[in-house]
Amino acid sequence: MWFLIKNGRVIDPSQNLDETADLLVENGRISKIGKVSVEKLDNGQGSVYDATGLVVTPGLIDMHVHLREPGFEYKETIETGAQAAAAGGFTTIVGMPNTKPAVDNRAVVEYVLNKGKDATVNVLTTGTATKANEGKEMAELGEMIDAGAVAISDDGFPVQSADLMRRIMEYAAMLGVPFLAHCEDKSMTSDGIMNEGIMGTILGLRPWPRQAEEIMIWRNIMIADLAKCRLHVQHVTTAGGVEAIRWAKSRGIAVTCETCPHYFSLTDEALKEYDTNAKVCPPLRTQSDVDVLKEALADGTIDVIATDHAPHAQNEKEVELQDAAFGMVGLESALPLVVTYLVKTGVLSLADAIARMTIAPANALGIDSGALKEGAIADITIIDPEAKVTVKASEFKSKSRNTPIDGMELTGKSVATIVSGEIVYETKPVKS
Ligand SMILES: [Zn+2]
Ligand SMILES: [Zn+2]
Repeated sequence: MWFLIKNGRVIDPSQNLDETADLLVENGRISKIGKVSVEKLDNGQGSVYDATGLVVTPGLIDMHVHLREPGFEYKETIETGAQAAAAGGFTTIVGMPNTKPAVDNRAVVEYVLNKGKDATVNVLTTGTATKANEGKEMAELGEMIDAGAVAISDDGFPVQSADLMRRIMEYAAMLGVPFLAHCEDKSMTSDGIMNEGIMGTILGLRPWPRQAEEIMIWRNIMIADLAKCRLHVQHVTTAGGVEAIRWAKSRGIAVTCETCPHYFSLTDEALKEYDTNAKVCPPLRTQSDVDVLKEALADGTIDVIATDHAPHAQNEKEVELQDAAFGMVGLESALPLVVTYLVKTGVLSLADAIARMTIAPANALGIDSGALKEGAIADITIIDPEAKVTVKASEFKSKSRNTPIDGMELTGKSVATIVSGEIVYETKPVKS
């Protein structure tokens, strides 16, 4: 079986490739990039996708997704999350371990990976840092990694004890996996709802100081250096956080980081109408933070764009702001936000934007993915960077609708998502 993607602009940042070419997939793997003549292929056995005017890239990777299963299937399941991912152009997603039960032992890792095998896209998982996310006792890191978890993460439940964090990072380093850190000093944020600043004062909402994030980024950098652990800072939102990471990188400390589309496309003004969908953790910051995040994306200090896709049911958001759950969905709006706010504005070239959603997360995780090399598994995304799109939450494949950008008009979208050579999502028919 072959599948030929004809005449697209093939962009693969892992090999500095950006040229008009054909891409041939045979038996689920990329077999050739260049000029391929259909006549030389066995006509009965394959199909052709005309990618003229479209961009062909490695399948996008989202290293920060909340799949909610097990335990919160009413928000999302592994399968609905995977379908949302496919619709957003992602071929690989990495689930966070703060489910119920938490992904804190071999059995739950195996459960998630087994369910993931039947899902629409590649589903990977992380394991928790501590048992039941309680921040007290180290989880069975070795068993979880042995069972296939790709990293350890304290997302949602940041480890407050520096000494425990040191031991966890030492163990992660020994196992050769990165630690994905949600950086938040809980003693400063216990009642916080939104960024501490003018907007929060005007709205009269309880403050969440930027320092709560920055102190923990600094602490985790120090501990990672001590433990010789690869640290990946999740969802960076502040100018000071960027500064800390820049400092660490300049010292040769093994740190990578991510930010999310909502942190460079929205500010705390999104809470002006008390929209609970704009309540996220960490909170939306100010325009000057947004400007610094864009600079840091441009200069490479921010390695990765991840969504922190955080689905919640309607009744968890249709309440007073103080009672609403933190988080918004992100898989199906990420690429349009990246194209609109970063590529169209000249912050990043299209190739650099794609790098931050393909080879950069693959490198941060240490997984063999995110490239279009001949012989590689054919995980491919086809993008129309000029398409006009209106965000329609009601049409999301995700089970949840919690986004503050419903109705927003954006540019750029994925038009086909291919996993192991099979089209798993497309918005126009394949020509044969
Ligand atoms: Zn988090
Ligand atoms: Zn998260």
